[in-house]
Amino acid sequence: MSQFEEILIKKRAFFATGVTKDVNFRVEQLKKLKQVIKCFEPALMQALQYDLNKSELDAYSTEIGIVYEEINYIVKHLNSWMKKKRVKTPLTHIGSQSYVYPEPYGVALIISPWNYPFQLTIAPLLGAIAAGNCAIIKPSELSPHVSQVLTEMLNTYFSSDYLAVIEGGVETSTELLNLKFDKIFFTGSVAVGKIVMQSAAKYLTPVTLELGGKSPCIVHKDAKLDLAAKRIVWGKFLNAGQTCIAPDYLLVHKEVKEELIERMKCYIQSFYGQNSQAMAQNKDLTVIVNDKHFQRLIAYLDKSHILVGGGYDEKRLWIEPTIIDQVEWQHPVLQDEIFGPILPVVEYEELAEVIKIVNEHEKPLALYFFSENKDLQNQILQGISFGGGCINDTVIHIVTPYLPFGGVGNSGIGAYHGRNSFEAFSHQKSVLHQTTRFDLPVRYPSFKYALQAIRFLMK
Ligand code: NAD
Repeated sequence: MSQFEEILIKKRAFFATGVTKDVNFRVEQLKKLKQVIKCFEPALMQALQYDLNKSELDAYSTEIGIVYEEINYIVKHLNSWMKKKRVKTPLTHIGSQSYVYPEPYGVALIISPWNYPFQLTIAPLLGAIAAGNCAIIKPSELSPHVSQVLTEMLNTYFSSDYLAVIEGGVETSTELLNLKFDKIFFTGSVAVGKIVMQSAAKYLTPVTLELGGKSPCIVHKDAKLDLAAKRIVWGKFLNAGQTCIAPDYLLVHKEVKEELIERMKCYIQSFYGQNSQAMAQNKDLTVIVNDKHFQRLIAYLDKSHILVGGGYDEKRLWIEPTIIDQVEWQHPVLQDEIFGPILPVVEYEELAEVIKIVNEHEKPLALYFFSENKDLQNQILQGISFGGGCINDTVIHIVTPYLPFGGVGNSGIGAYHGRNSFEAFSHQKSVLHQTTRFDLPVRYPSFKYALQAIRFLMK
């Protein structure tokens, strides 16, 4: 038996005791997790700085604070989410009552990426704990310092029967995926998402796949341009563009393109530094995760028409917020997910063109549309399928527990955050409680008028 199999078996045995199903246990674990994170906050900040040079502001707002908020929200509502839910019963089932019982799947596998290495590991874990599961967590090998803190945090302060972090790369992930879990929650690339789904198919394990892709940002001519510029610059260059829902490419109406770019340039300067030199000296800016991604990104700049930025520092793996123009649709920057601080701009004249272009691509994880016109907003919402997004903003839809967060088509399967996290790790068990006080004869073949009665009831 492999080492991982042993770890899994231990969790199965613990799950079978029923301890994790108790509401008090779940709440206790969530509260304890919050306390443990608080103790590890300095170590986490440091690890996020080592792995991605995240500033304290970014680390707290996009990784740690967001998790505290999610814990508070789940703890507040868990009791009510766990209750069996009574649903209607049709006339054909007279005398009975119908209920839906949420129940934990069992042992969950959570595989996470490197770009928000803490938040994207802990947020699904909160769902797993809230729903009463045990879990094995495989963080990314590309953010090794954060992975190490996660290991220390969870493997030291939680029973190994209940939770375990297993560090490692592709081989570890592959080995884990060969085992039979009751739920797999994967966050990462589309390519690996397909591998995960194939592995899950072997045991028909339910999956949530939080994937990526190219998220368009559309700015129409009636948009409030200054606000649009500010919000796009924030969402695009946050975390050096290494955000799954960052605007990937900009579609802007021809009449407002120049002004929008000019305003975006001003916001880049005001957020990050007056010029390339000033930015290069700003030690607070998030860098690219590794040399491979850095080289992939700077290759996009080659032969591109650079409107803003374009500078980089190979030693620090830093790339200046950059806007490029006159890009052919065949160019890799408009074909592949960029996942870095480079924003290609494409102009359009008719909104119908935009809908057609976006629909020719895979369904995006996010879409952003800037316009004051409700009819046009509806045209976009009805004309394009995408995971989620914003009208007149970017990225911020991820930070609310009330909106399910997830993709569609190529950008993912399932959703989480808030109650959806609880549901992502729960099976909805439907049970009909039948009366024994009487037994209507209509369904039995021995009843003379069975067919007539059923025809009457089910027309
Ligand atoms: P990735 O798919 O390369 O890796 C994610 C995880 O899968 C890591 O833990 C890694 O060790 C593991 N893995 C890698 N190759 C594997 C293989 N062949 N078999 C099994 N496991 C394997 O993704 P990444 O580079 O870490 O993250 C970037 C991608 O993730 C982008 O596409 C981004 O859009 C996406 N993403 C999506 C979300 C979301 O919420 N939808 C969030 C963050 C990132």
